[in-house]
Amino acid sequence: MPEEIKKPKFTKIVDYRPKDVDEVGFKFVGHEISEDGKYINQKLHYDQLYTMRQGSNSKLFIGFIEGKIFGTKCPVCGDKFFPPRINCWNLDCKAAKCDWIELKPKAKVWTWTVAGWSGRSSLKRLPIVLVYAVVDGCKTAIANELLNIKPWDVDFDMPVKIVFKPKKERTGSTSDWHFEPDDGWKPSPMNLEKERIKTLVMPVYDWVKTLK
Ligand SMILES: [Zn+2]
Repeated sequence: MPEEIKKPKFTKIVDYRPKDVDEVGFKFVGHEISEDGKYINQKLHYDQLYTMRQGSNSKLFIGFIEGKIFGTKCPVCGDKFFPPRINCWNLDCKAAKCDWIELKPKAKVWTWTVAGWSGRSSLKRLPIVLVYAVVDGCKTAIANELLNIKPWDVDFDMPVKIVFKPKKERTGSTSDWHFEPDDGWKPSPMNLEKERIKTLVMPVYDWVKTLK
């Protein structure tokens, strides 16, 4: 039997659109959470105002606001997903509905890239290390920024942790958090490949210093 779906009532409305700013580029400007705390709608300003109704994925985004990482787990095969999948992807599980579970804020780097160019709003933060990381043994990987590391020191499978922004700055999006090397991690010694990346990246630091 399909579970009964009641229309949610959005009662906890939070508005953080900057006053006196008409054009804010790409920015989350507010959200609303339903009375029962189960659903979130997000307001995104990108040239114009969009509302993203997160529906069954709401727990993920409400979790970010609370500083928690929620993924899903298939009750049949036990596979875990972050980003979450609402239904299992294994054919034998016949699209079983996954359960929400809280994950440990720990991950391993699957792959990464170093960005030496970006949109205007991020130019001064270059170079930016972007990683795809596998959180707490999940079967899916999620992209986010890796901070507190020299770009040439990133390694496959290196342990990283999830670090949240202060609560008042969170908007219920993946930019509420980032990755950092896990406690106790030490970079491996320099080698030819690391030297190659360093040679490519150092001019980016020099160029960024010239930006006004
Ligand atoms: Zn499954």
